[in-house]
Amino acid sequence: MRTYEDSYRHKGLRRQLVEVIRQKGITDERVLDAILHIPRHFFMDSAFDKIAYEDRAFPIGESQTISQPYTVAYQTQLLEVKPHEKVLEIGTGSGYQACVLAEMGAQVFTIERQKKLFDSMKTFSFPKKFPSLKFFYGDGFEGLPTYAPFHKVIVTAAAPFIPPKLVEQLRPGGRMVIPVGEGRVQRMLRITLEADGQAKEEIFDNFSFVPMVEGKNH
Ligand code: SAH
Repeated sequence: MRTYEDSYRHKGLRRQLVEVIRQKGITDERVLDAILHIPRHFFMDSAFDKIAYEDRAFPIGESQTISQPYTVAYQTQLLEVKPHEKVLEIGTGSGYQACVLAEMGAQVFTIERQKKLFDSMKTFSFPKKFPSLKFFYGDGFEGLPTYAPFHKVIVTAAAPFIPPKLVEQLRPGGRMVIPVGEGRVQRMLRITLEADGQAKEEIFDNFSFVPMVEGKNH
């Protein structure tokens, strides 16, 4: 069950969360502002209401999680998203990261492979406030060729390798932020497709995501 009440207590906890994330090193005010405005507790079962603003991941069913707010902020900051950019997200999960991007003015296309999680977005009213946010059921390794190219791609599950089709769906100058690794921890990478078609790779911190799995799950 979800709650849709955003009380003064929730708002206060959100302000504290923003300060926690800032202290951990997030500096982009547009990212921090989006975290301040998206009611994270709406994206979880109401049983988590009291702890929804702790800086940690929580279960959302189907053995999946809503990412830790610091991780959401970290990936979003690396993505350097600008208003009206087309952003492809792999791994909708709770929909929280997608709403943070939409709040920053991006046109978001998000894919989820778990049918139950995808279906739960249909009855979730909050994301409907962003008309440019679109949900898809499919395999993220394939991307969304029909809607490509994208300015930005963000992968929110641990990828065993950099999916070639996702690189192909980037615009020249486009960027992808993706945690890569098959073990318990992954390296956050940022791939920039340069104008001459070369892909530049930058390496950032270690994180721990649920695995990116090939194929759809019914
Ligand atoms: N961005 C999410 C985090 C969800 S966890 C949020 O804000 O809550 C990662 C999600 O990626 C899970 O829901 C998982 O089912 C999904 N996933 C894993 N492999 C995938 C694939 N190949 N295509 C699409 N989604 C995938």
